[in-house]
Amino acid sequence: MNIYGSKVHVVIVGGGFAGLACARKLAKSDDVRVTLIDKNNYHQFQPLLYQLATAELGTGDVATSIRQSLRRHSNIDVKMVEVTAADPRTRTVTTREGESYQGDFLVLAAGSQANFFGTAGAEQSAFPLYSLEEAQRLRSRILTVFEDADRDPKLVKQGALNFVVVGGGATGTEIAGALADMINVTMTTEYPDLAVKHARISLVDHGHALLGPFPVKAHDYAARTLQQKGVQLRLGVEVKEVASDHVLLSDGTSIQTRTAVWAGGLMASPLAASAGLPQGHGGRIAVRPDLTVEGFPCVYALGDFANIPGPDGQPLPQLGSVAQQSGEWTAKNILAEIAGETRTPFDYHDKGIMAMIGRDAAVAAVGKKRHELDGPIAFAAWLGVHALLMSGVRERIEAFIDWAWSYFGRSRPIQVLDRSDGGRIDWDAGSESGSTVASPAAKTAH
Ligand SMILES: Cc1cc2nc3c(=O)[nH]c(=O)nc-3n(C[C@H](O)[C@H](O)[C@H](O)COP(=O)(O)OP(=O)(O)OC[C@H]3O[C@@H](n4cnc5c(N)ncnc54)[C@H](O)[C@@H]3O)c2cc1C
Repeated sequence: MNIYGSKVHVVIVGGGFAGLACARKLAKSDDVRVTLIDKNNYHQFQPLLYQLATAELGTGDVATSIRQSLRRHSNIDVKMVEVTAADPRTRTVTTREGESYQGDFLVLAAGSQANFFGTAGAEQSAFPLYSLEEAQRLRSRILTVFEDADRDPKLVKQGALNFVVVGGGATGTEIAGALADMINVTMTTEYPDLAVKHARISLVDHGHALLGPFPVKAHDYAARTLQQKGVQLRLGVEVKEVASDHVLLSDGTSIQTRTAVWAGGLMASPLAASAGLPQGHGGRIAVRPDLTVEGFPCVYALGDFANIPGPDGQPLPQLGSVAQQSGEWTAKNILAEIAGETRTPFDYHDKGIMAMIGRDAAVAAVGKKRHELDGPIAFAAWLGVHALLMSGVRERIEAFIDWAWSYFGRSRPIQVLDRSDGGRIDWDAGSESGSTVASPAAKTAH
């Protein structure tokens, strides 16, 4: 029996890397019952979203049912519902339908969404790449512009095959490389009547190097690799406006395009603002070293939702490994507390960072000392690490089959044009029926 005298109730908001890891560890204790709340019924594997968008992997490879993942744990109750408010004083969350869930402990792990930094038109017209729905919508757009241009080649002159990627971090670099491979390897074969050679990918970033947090050698390797694949780098310029038919840059250049991919940055999910808690960079909740929120020892914030202080006091980066480990640590601290022991500061085990830049090309900086790898070795390491991060054996096997299919077969296994998002393009009007699909609102710019 614990010091509470009965089963302790932990309410977790978010079934991402952080929330799921926390729930799984808590599930092993007989002293605890957990309510895990997520607005979706699936856990999405964000690191592979760009492969979903470029038809290399299917939905089932990058999303798993939360209920199925936790079905063996009878002390976890899963609720699919959107939380719209959190009250840290009473450890209660309220849903869009007006229901409330109160816990002895509240764990906030609601992740992040695109940050448009107030860029004109970006929220309405750009294609962000931070959720499953967004990746599916982008895939539909890429396939639609090829189909439309194949039917009416004049559309190529209107920028149908121009793609603009905003952001030169890991997400932007990865999608630019994957898109270049899709065009160079697959589309050239599958659209023999279309002048695919006129397709252009521009990657825009206001900084002067790609992959900022990586060592300098990786910046150069990424730039060289993308240029070899035909990607035009526009570094040192800002995106001033995104419209449905063009992107305007700070140097006055206007690029005609129907596909502006937004990989420009992240901010905490809007739930962060509702809790009335101190927010820092990116709108994320500031937490103490033990992951609790200042003044609320039974409220935790973790993963992408929080600014977690690292050893140097600076916030740790938004990474799957930080999220997963912070989820496990939170569970450990909750279990310590209900056993009458003290909480301990989060000790992040830094395994390094990696990014894929397309076929046979990747960069990795491994461990705290950042041992550098690039080329096919880093590519193989990337495949292995990401397969291990996936939550189920079935997902791993399916992903490997799809990877092998596109690698050796040079075709895309999941090239299915899903019209459910209404993404038809009205080429005459310069606007499209699907452009009203809501993108998350940009609230803070940092
Ligand atoms: C394109 C891309 C590529 C990446 N590549 C890598 C990589 O290679 N390696 C790496 O380590 N990291 C990578 N990351 C980062 C990594 O995916 C994130 O750091 C990680 O997903 C954060 O986990 P989380 O649990 O904090 O949030 P998430 O995984 O975002 O989970 C948050 C959960 O909360 C739910 N939720 C949100 N709001 C609500 C609400 N109001 N009510 C109910 N539920 C809600 C969401 O549905 C979601 O399931 C990448 C991220 C992106 C976007």
